[in-house]
Amino acid sequence: MSLDGAYERDNIFAKIVRGEIPAARIGEDEKTLAFMDAFPQSRGHALVVHKTSRARNLLDVEQDELAEIMNTTQRVARAVRRALEPEGIMIAQFNGSAAGQTVFHLHVHIIPRWRDAPLGRHAGGAMGDMNELNALARQIAERLER
Ligand code: 5GP
Repeated sequence: MSLDGAYERDNIFAKIVRGEIPAARIGEDEKTLAFMDAFPQSRGHALVVHKTSRARNLLDVEQDELAEIMNTTQRVARAVRRALEPEGIMIAQFNGSAAGQTVFHLHVHIIPRWRDAPLGRHAGGAMGDMNELNALARQIAERLER
């Protein structure tokens, strides 16, 4: 899918937001939701989405919605740091399939990094173990601050 097009209400993240399919949820507020990426590129790879925005990418989104997503991204990245003590944290976001985007509901990746752990493939690696993803989500949730 290109940069242009209509928002698809049955995309996989919309279904996660509505609770129609399971996810290892870290936490949510009125506007945003954080959960573990099911095909993690590193241990602790998390995603942040808006719950009511119909933006497919960064170019579509309203500025107040973008601020809400980024505020949550910072909170969750801080919690990831406290919980997992990575040596670095990569924040990533893809716009359009040519750039690597595979789910067309705006989201931000939070990818903890360690020098000796190579980065996994984007949207093409192995599925994470659900018990492990749930345990990581709990660990991160315990370190979330307002
Ligand atoms: P994008 O390629 O659009 O930037 O990122 C989509 C992300 O969603 C990928 O990192 C991929 O691993 C993740 N993903 C794909 N399907 C699912 C799913 O069903 N559940 C979760 N939690 N993540 C998913």
